[in-house]
Amino acid sequence: MTRPENSHGRRVVDRFVQRFGRSPQLLVRAPGRLCLLGAHVDTAQGWVLPGAIDRAIWLAASLATDRSGSLVACDLTDESGLDPARLAPPRHQRPGDPLRWTDYPQGVAWTLGNSGVGPLPPLDVVFGGDIPRGAGLSSSAAVEVAFLLAWNALAGLRLDRRSLAELATRVEREYVGVRSGVMDPFASLFGQSDHLLWLDCRSLDSRPVPLPTTVSVVVVDSGTRRELAASEFNARRTESAAALQRVRELYPSVETLRDLSVADLPDLLPQLPSPLDRRVQHVVEECARVQQGVEALERGEVETFGQLLRASHESSRDLFECSLPRLDAMAAAAWATEGCLGARFMGGGFGGCVAALVEVGSEPATAEAMLDVVGEVVPPPLVCRFADGAAIVDTVEPGNQPPAEGQRTC
Ligand code: ADP
Ligand code: MG
Repeated sequence: MTRPENSHGRRVVDRFVQRFGRSPQLLVRAPGRLCLLGAHVDTAQGWVLPGAIDRAIWLAASLATDRSGSLVACDLTDESGLDPARLAPPRHQRPGDPLRWTDYPQGVAWTLGNSGVGPLPPLDVVFGGDIPRGAGLSSSAAVEVAFLLAWNALAGLRLDRRSLAELATRVEREYVGVRSGVMDPFASLFGQSDHLLWLDCRSLDSRPVPLPTTVSVVVVDSGTRRELAASEFNARRTESAAALQRVRELYPSVETLRDLSVADLPDLLPQLPSPLDRRVQHVVEECARVQQGVEALERGEVETFGQLLRASHESSRDLFECSLPRLDAMAAAAWATEGCLGARFMGGGFGGCVAALVEVGSEPATAEAMLDVVGEVVPPPLVCRFADGAAIVDTVEPGNQPPAEGQRTC
C-alpha cells in the first residue's frame, strides 16, 4: 500500500501498522454530506439535493488473524472486539443501554448477516476522520458506508452501491434505532466532486448536478441541539402522518405528499385544518424548489439557487415551523454578508448548524457574521467543498504487504 496523501488516511494506516504489526489490506474513504435543498421531504419519498463533502471517515482494514476482530476508533482513543458470530442484539432489545460508537459497526455486521450474504469474516480495523460528530453532517452514515465497503471487498460480497446505501439505511433504522432516510448513505456513496446529487427518494434515481467551482459552503454550529426540542420534533412527525391521512381521504390516489403538485394547493389547503395545511404546503413547495434548484444550477444560475436556499429556510421557519430564533438570526446575518448567495439551517431543525453558500473568498466574513450571532464558544466553522463519493482508495493483496515504515500514533 502506498503512503496515503491525506493526513487522516496516513493516520489510520500508521495506527493500523502499529497496532496489528502488518499493513492493512485496504484503505477506505467515506465522506459526510450536506443537504442544501429538500428539508423534510425524504419521509414523503420526495426529491432532495445533498452532496458528499470533503470531510470523511478513513478506515484501514484487513481480515482478522484471530477468530474475533479488533476495532480501533482513533478519534475516540477506544478499542473494542467485534465477532460477527456473536453480536449484541439491536438496540431496541437492550432498553437502557446507551448508544455507543460500537453500535454502528455492530449494526453493519448484523444487517449484512441478516441479508443472506452468508457468514461474515471478522476484521481488524482502525478508523477515524474529520467529520464533526453529531453536527448533522452524517458522520454515522460515513462510518456505516466505510465498514460496508470494507466487508464488501474483504468478504467478496459483490454488493452494488445502491444495495450498500439501502443496507446502511437499515443499520440506522433496524439496529441503531434512528428513523433516518436513504439520503445520507446515498450521498456518501454517490457524491461527485463539485456536484450536488439530485435524488428521488422513492425510485432512488439520481444524477449529479454541477455546482460552480467559484462557490463553497460555510457551516457554523449554532450551539443548540435538537434534543432540547425533542417533543416539538416528534410533534412534526405526528402532524406529517396526520396530514397525509387527511390528504388521502380527499385524494385517494396520493401515496405520499410528493404525489401532490403546487397546482393542487389552492384547492387542497382550505380543506385542511391548521397546522396541517402549513406542513403540507411546505413539503409540496420544497419538492418543487428542489426541481427549480436543479434547473437553476444546470443553467449556471447560482444566484437563483442561493435564493431558493433562502426560501427553503423561510418555509421551514414559517410553514414547517422547525426553526429557532437563533438559526433565523444566523441565516439572516449570513444573507446580509457580501458574497453570500443563500443560507439555511441543516437537518431536521430546532438546532444544529447553519450552512451558507458563498463565493470563494467570502467564507471568513460570512462565518464571522454567523459567529457574532451565536455569541458563545462553538466548534470552529467548517468550509466545505463537494467531493467524490466513498471509495476504496488503496488495496494490498494478502501475503504481498510491504514492510511497515514511518509509524506514527493517532
Ligand atoms: P451525525 O450523523 O449527524 O454526525 P449521529 O448522532 O447520527 O450524528 O452519529 C454520530 C455517532 O456516529 C457518534 O456518536 C459515533 O457513535 C459515531 N461516529 C461518528 N464519527 C465517528 C468516529 N470518527 N469515530 C467513531 N465513531 C464515530
Ligand atoms: Mg447520523
